[in-house]
Amino acid sequence: MNATSVATAAYIVAALLFILSLAGLSKHETARRGVWFGITGMAIAIVATFALVVDLATGSDTHGGGGSLSVVLLLVAVVIGASIGLWRARIVEMTGMPELIALLHSFVGLAAVLVGWNGYLEYRGEPRAGDTLLHIHDAEVFIGIFIGAVTFTGSIIAFLKLSARIKSAPLMLPGKNLINVGALVVFAALTVAFVADPQLWELIAVTTVALALGLHLVASIGGGDMPVVVSMLNSYSGWAAAASGFLLDNDLLIVTGALVGSSGAYLSYIMCQAMNRSFISVIAGGFGIEATGGAEIEGEHREIDAEGVADLLTSASSVVITPGYGMAVAQAQYPVADLTRRLRERGVDVRFGIHPVAGRLPGHMNVLLAEAKVPYDIVLEMDEINDDLAATDVVLVIGANDTVNPAAAEDPSSPIAGMPVLRVWEAKNVVVFKRSMAAGYAGVQNPLFFRENTQMLFGDAKERVGDILAALARVPA
Ligand code: NDP
Repeated sequence: MNATSVATAAYIVAALLFILSLAGLSKHETARRGVWFGITGMAIAIVATFALVVDLATGSDTHGGGGSLSVVLLLVAVVIGASIGLWRARIVEMTGMPELIALLHSFVGLAAVLVGWNGYLEYRGEPRAGDTLLHIHDAEVFIGIFIGAVTFTGSIIAFLKLSARIKSAPLMLPGKNLINVGALVVFAALTVAFVADPQLWELIAVTTVALALGLHLVASIGGGDMPVVVSMLNSYSGWAAAASGFLLDNDLLIVTGALVGSSGAYLSYIMCQAMNRSFISVIAGGFGIEATGGAEIEGEHREIDAEGVADLLTSASSVVITPGYGMAVAQAQYPVADLTRRLRERGVDVRFGIHPVAGRLPGHMNVLLAEAKVPYDIVLEMDEINDDLAATDVVLVIGANDTVNPAAAEDPSSPIAGMPVLRVWEAKNVVVFKRSMAAGYAGVQNPLFFRENTQMLFGDAKERVGDILAALARVPA
């Protein structure tokens, strides 16, 4: 058996492991196993690819080529990449994950652009007449560069927005939809011209148009809609990788890219449904733009202290906790898990309500709560808990804002109008943990804070939950 057949067999095993990994990651209970399937699949893929390169290099050495140089280059790239990856993974905070992921997507996009350019330079000047395979190759080059470049700049803008290096407000250029459609038309025309007769200027033009399009697509999308953009870029990065797979003639890269591309697209679709947005308009890069700033809110808010919350909780029979980005910032998941345990020991029914876009990453809250060992069976999705909120004694809104904003349901002029939210205001008592009266990520005022049944507990969520735990310890069970 030669190295190519062994590598092909290894690639099939790796591809199956990636599919099992995705299946595992779709449920809390099997997520850890899913991660291990993914790690094993990737290890197999890297070893098989390395063996293939070594085999090819040894072959090319006999023809006087620089085969061993390829092996050395590969090793150097793997060592540098793995070291940076390990270092970043070790130091990244949970709150920094979304921007790190956006940055990683940009690398996939850039790699696809470079692979595409290399694919062009390799066959430049070869006669095309009657060579269908070369025409297909040219189309792969062109499409790969286009998807890669859109992913590259789009992900960089997402990175800048998520890390608050630039404002999350949408860029509103006049005729923005025309700009996007125009870029697609130019791409289609250039593709036809390039496949007929590849020219360097066409490649430069498509790279420039795609870089500008990626930038514009993501810049035009407002703060509250960023979750869909992140999963959409995830999908684009998959398609960019698949395009590179075609050019490099690597089946595993095609399969893996398609898996990432389709699962990312499906995730974007689920997120669009969760946020009541149209999938097509997300892909067209500009929804949520028409909304105005929403109605001005006037009124007084009421405050409560930790002792008061402890009293409310001990006299409650049902409590729902709705965490948001602030819980991640404060790293409050551990004291929150502690509070949950103490209340359950006292016979209080405690459950969690998780909004699909709470935090800054799909599944962000679920990961934090699992990390703090909150039992999975009391962590419910928004749709599972929303109808129970009216019969709930106390809702603790811990660092959430946009995901519990009644304006989404009640104010059609709000930028987040139509987005389904956790209807916490229907509960008998609501306590909102945050540091100030500031707006959430979407920059929208929250009328919840001024409702009759809402009380604000100001301060860092971790410290305030700690204060409640201390107060609870003083109240006999
Ligand atoms: P928000 O971002 O709307 O609000 C978080 C709140 O937490 C803020 O109002 C802030 O108020 C408070 N907060 C911050 N730090 C602390 C702290 N240390 N202690 C206590 N409170 C704190 O959160 P949500 O989770 O409700 O909504 C998520 C938003 O992010 C949505 O708009 C969503 O569209 C968007 N988004 C989601 C992504 C995803 O995939 N899940 C990705 C990208 C964006 P204060 O400053 O007063 O303390």
